Amino acid sequence: MRGILGSMKVAWILALLLFAPTSAAQEGPRCLKCKQVGLVPCVEHKKKDCELEGNALYCSFMADCAVCGGTGWLDCERCEYPDAERRNAEKRLKVKELEPELKKLDEEMGRTLRKAESEHFVLIWEIDELKVDKRRLKDHELLHLYVDRLEELYDAYVNTFGVDDRDFKEKPRVFAWSFMPDHYRAGKRFCGGEGERGIKRLGSTPSFSFPVLKKYFKDDEVLHRHLLHNVAHLLLSHQNPPQWIGQMKGGWADAGVAHWFEDHFFEICDNYCYQEVDTSQGFKGGKWRPRVRKLVAMGKAAPAAEVMQKNTTILTQDDHALSFSYVDFLIQKDAQKTNRLLMRLRSKVPLRDSMKEVFGMNLIQFEKEWRDWVMATYPAR
Ligand SMILES: [Zn+2]
Ligand SMILES: [Zn+2]
Ligand SMILES: [Zn+2]
Ligand SMILES: [Zn+2]
Repeated sequence: MRGILGSMKVAWILALLLFAPTSAAQEGPRCLKCKQVGLVPCVEHKKKDCELEGNALYCSFMADCAVCGGTGWLDCERCEYPDAERRNAEKRLKVKELEPELKKLDEEMGRTLRKAESEHFVLIWEIDELKVDKRRLKDHELLHLYVDRLEELYDAYVNTFGVDDRDFKEKPRVFAWSFMPDHYRAGKRFCGGEGERGIKRLGSTPSFSFPVLKKYFKDDEVLHRHLLHNVAHLLLSHQNPPQWIGQMKGGWADAGVAHWFEDHFFEICDNYCYQEVDTSQGFKGGKWRPRVRKLVAMGKAAPAAEVMQKNTTILTQDDHALSFSYVDFLIQKDAQKTNRLLMRLRSKVPLRDSMKEVFGMNLIQFEKEWRDWVMATYPAR
């Protein structure tokens, strides 16, 4: 895993700095009370809870506080920092602006849910506590940690494909539950269906509900990877033009992209969605490159033209690994073109036409180039 925790810490600190600049970031009077931040933590909450708020536009742990208006921070009365105060006032307005939509979720579920809205996601987080590394984190800190992880995925996604906020109309909603009845209810109300392990609504109103049970997730890392996998599906299907290609013979790309982002962050793929084949025991340790190389070397890889016309639901274990590898190959070849190809597929242009148009290859040429690349670059073990 490529220094995720390190970069996460940096992200948190950055978010905090952006929200409440320190003396290094801002000129102004010396103030012992706020240390040149211009703001102080709201008296109604613990300081460490207030310090989590940087990455959220709305957080249910703060939202109803009449003292800070849901931001967690108050103007420091000993000094004047107009910029910080203005930003805090703007955030108070934002909390109020976002509230009505978020409260609808509470109404649907019959109680106030623990949740946050960030720049690109709405996260409902009904998990009391979890061990992350060596520390046992409580709900509020976990909520913000997972907001960070979602935003990190978003950044990786848009940077990889060279797209931006204009390519996404809605914020994906992610619901993490501790109790099956909540998950089933949310699945039906928000994701259009039922699924024991999880349910996704892909396309124009992306939502994902899943139960966080010990029997499915042995630890935080597995949970994290599971979320990356599923939310990558949401982003791909929601990006303009929105369409779930997994049911239009684009299963290889639908699953391949989701696996690719797992691999991007962890260098492991061990997730399959409920809609896909259950192969959680497959491919020792989730290291797929050696496996794919072996399939190719032994002549046991199914023809690309065959794999590339299946829906996601009928991909086999091997197909999943091959799909990951096709996406891996295309992205290293040209990520922007890969994005264009995926857009064409979502616009219902048949693969052979879109591949020809974007990469100038027919599927035979694709297969040959891909095989050569696998043999030249993938490790044998
Ligand atoms: Zn001050
Ligand atoms: Zn919060
Ligand atoms: Zn407050
Ligand atoms: Zn999947």
